[in-house]
Amino acid sequence: MMIPSCDPNDGEGSMRLIEDLTTNTSRVQQQVLKEILTRNADTEYLHGFLEGHTDRDLFKRQVPVIDYEQVKPYIERIANGEPSHIISSQPITELLTSSGTSGGQPKLMPSTAEDLDRKNFLYNLLIPVMNKYVDGLDRGKGMYLLFVKPEISTPSGLTARPVLTSYYKSSNFRNRPFTKFNVYTSPDETILCSDSKQSMYCQLLCGLIQRDEVLRVGAVFASAFLRAIKFLEDHWEELCSNIRTGHVSDWITDTSCRNAAGRILDRPNSELAELIETECRKEPWEAIIRRLWPKTKYVDVIVTGSMAQYIPLLEFYSGGLPLVSTMYASSECYFGINLRPLDLPSDVSYVLLPNMAYFEFIKVERTDEDEASRIECNGNGESKVVDLTNVEVGCYYELVVTTFTGLYRYRVGDILMVTGFHNTAPQFRFVHRRNVVLSIDTDKTNEEDLLKAITQAKLLLQPLGCLLTEYTSYADTSSIPGHYVLFWEFKTKGSSDLSNLDQTVMEECCSTVEACLDSVYRRCRSKDRSIGPLEIRVVQCGAFDALMDFCVSQGSSVNQYKTPRCIKSTEGIGILEEKVVRRFFSRKVPLWEPYRVESRAD
Ligand code: AMP
Repeated sequence: MMIPSCDPNDGEGSMRLIEDLTTNTSRVQQQVLKEILTRNADTEYLHGFLEGHTDRDLFKRQVPVIDYEQVKPYIERIANGEPSHIISSQPITELLTSSGTSGGQPKLMPSTAEDLDRKNFLYNLLIPVMNKYVDGLDRGKGMYLLFVKPEISTPSGLTARPVLTSYYKSSNFRNRPFTKFNVYTSPDETILCSDSKQSMYCQLLCGLIQRDEVLRVGAVFASAFLRAIKFLEDHWEELCSNIRTGHVSDWITDTSCRNAAGRILDRPNSELAELIETECRKEPWEAIIRRLWPKTKYVDVIVTGSMAQYIPLLEFYSGGLPLVSTMYASSECYFGINLRPLDLPSDVSYVLLPNMAYFEFIKVERTDEDEASRIECNGNGESKVVDLTNVEVGCYYELVVTTFTGLYRYRVGDILMVTGFHNTAPQFRFVHRRNVVLSIDTDKTNEEDLLKAITQAKLLLQPLGCLLTEYTSYADTSSIPGHYVLFWEFKTKGSSDLSNLDQTVMEECCSTVEACLDSVYRRCRSKDRSIGPLEIRVVQCGAFDALMDFCVSQGSSVNQYKTPRCIKSTEGIGILEEKVVRRFFSRKVPLWEPYRVESRAD
């Protein structure tokens, strides 16, 4: 009942649905909460607080606003074979591994069969919204580079995998209703290929062959799209040679991926190979997207939040095509869509669809006005929690969700700002994720993780008589893949000569930091190769004083000055950069193993 049927071919009907939902925000939210509470009143979790009641006010009074740590024991019990109904009356069919981590491992989010339909509903709405702004998308294809990631089985036999892997493997995706608006150049078999290199190669091959039909290109996040461009830079000669000979490279050994690519590459085409080669040979690769896929109207990738760092590079490669962030979603729940997809990335807002979950908001204040102007919330029980219809324009909030899948008043960790309303539904700008200081791909490293990793690495310096006195970091995305950079300042015993720093030890420091970062970082770095080797830049004595002088000149208070553990401003980075004396890179790829849910000992 809560998932209206939405036919993506019926543009008008779908737009009417959006209008209905956003006009009746408050009523739909109340229905959603009622439905969730009624269904789940007898779960162990809710019963503990509500004793079977389903009253909204009681829910607000009795059910606590929680973090992952509080729900983790329940999810682990389910992973270990206890029945789903400890948190959800509907069976939990799988666990979704989030890119948010707890104790270094991905957080696991419950999911149900019904929830795939809810995701489908949101995906279907994206099509008519886009059609309102861009004409003729039914006359061609989308080159979407989509990938699946490794999955594991929990001790009870439940599958745990990332949310998009779950979606692409579902029948909802594979048997998606045919509409002329969602025809992709990548055959499903190439998307579902578990070898990411073969998958990427075949998807690009299919995209190049069908270049004249491509009207839009994209990936989920900006980082993945840029990785594809980099891959193309490294492989265009081989791809062209395949097109010329009509033969897929022998190293593509995944049978179904190979066969699917072979069906697209059904004949030798030296003319096409020639054309592509001519474009790829031209340096620089400015506007390569427009040159290789000349009918492309926009680039469909998320460029809000931490992905904003990739906008300049995307603009360069795309030749100024619109960058479109269509939706805002997570493993916990799909939240909302962008109703004005052609707006500039800096203006993008998402409307939360009131039937996706029950949404609440913790009001947060700006805690300092420094360069990063980070906004944190105290998050204790006294914080003010408001409903979706009670948020105020211009204010900042942390999102809290109660889902259909067994999360109750769960803090997502995202900070959003209200930019306005569509009918009665508020629209939000994604501001940042709570606590995250570094992110290249889907990794989310916070200050604490960084400190822990650096503390481990520091131990290696003791024998050298070197003391690490200051550090900071930034995500260097000037080349693809991007990498973490740490600036380190030392106090050396005796002579202050940094030129004889031991190379091996410093490289070992780089790899130790990497080895201590969480499993999402290590997966990106080792399996996906979407993050490059971590770099330590050693700066001269006094470099951090210069940074402090700069921050103070920008308005930081001298008394309260703390070294930022991540610098975002180019001037700040420039100040340290001028004082760099040595650079070291990690030479080891950190170990990564798929997350294992431990069986309990009892
Ligand atoms: P995951 O749980 O790994 O699927 O990651 C979900 C998180 O990715 C969200 O909570 C956000 O922090 C981030 N995210 C998802 N969609 C967007 C978006 N459109 N803009 C900015 N950040 C996003």
